[in-house]
Amino acid sequence: MNTGKQGTLFVLSGPSGVGKGTVIDKLSTEDINVEYSISVTTREPRRGEEDGQDYIFVNEDEFFRMVEDNKFIEWARVHNNYYGTLKRTVQDLLNKGKDVILEIDIQGARQIRDKFPAAILIFLLPPSLDELEDRLDKRGSEDPDSKKTRLENARQEMNEISYYDYQVKNDNLEDTVYQIKEIIKKESKLKE
Ligand code: 5GP
Repeated sequence: MNTGKQGTLFVLSGPSGVGKGTVIDKLSTEDINVEYSISVTTREPRRGEEDGQDYIFVNEDEFFRMVEDNKFIEWARVHNNYYGTLKRTVQDLLNKGKDVILEIDIQGARQIRDKFPAAILIFLLPPSLDELEDRLDKRGSEDPDSKKTRLENARQEMNEISYYDYQVKNDNLEDTVYQIKEIIKKESKLKE
């Protein structure tokens, strides 16, 4: 349906292991109309991840061809891999009058803010850095080097939270999803 209105762009950032993916999955089952844009990455798929569903997995050559072809509205190197958001996907959804949520890092969030000043940036905080380390251990997806990089990056990212419009502490999934839904409802232009 084309309502003639542009959707709003939301960004969800937060350190690795904070639960962004779980929050986005849960949001997709709730009564809130927001579309998730699938990113492109050069990272290896984790067990259970599917191409085209979790990410579009490409190699570095393919990624940089896409950079040259201007396919991304933002891209960044994160934890030694490359990630990018497809311009076409986001623009099509916004033009169709849909709200869109991007799960991207702080470098990407800054690029989005430059290009879409009206974007709403949300930062998801862990209850503490210890808890974050625990969650990464439980997820078991990272080797020691990758875990170390992710924890170092988490410390840096958490210094930048004032850049964001909203900060939500992920103590409890239900509460977090509720708070994010309330932010989306409040900031969405589609209801007017
Ligand atoms: P993961 O490898 O754990 O799926 O994601 C690692 C980091 O990359 C997370 O902080 C995530 O938000 C970020 N990320 C995922 N997709 C994108 C993207 O398209 N652009 C940017 N800039 N960061 C992304």
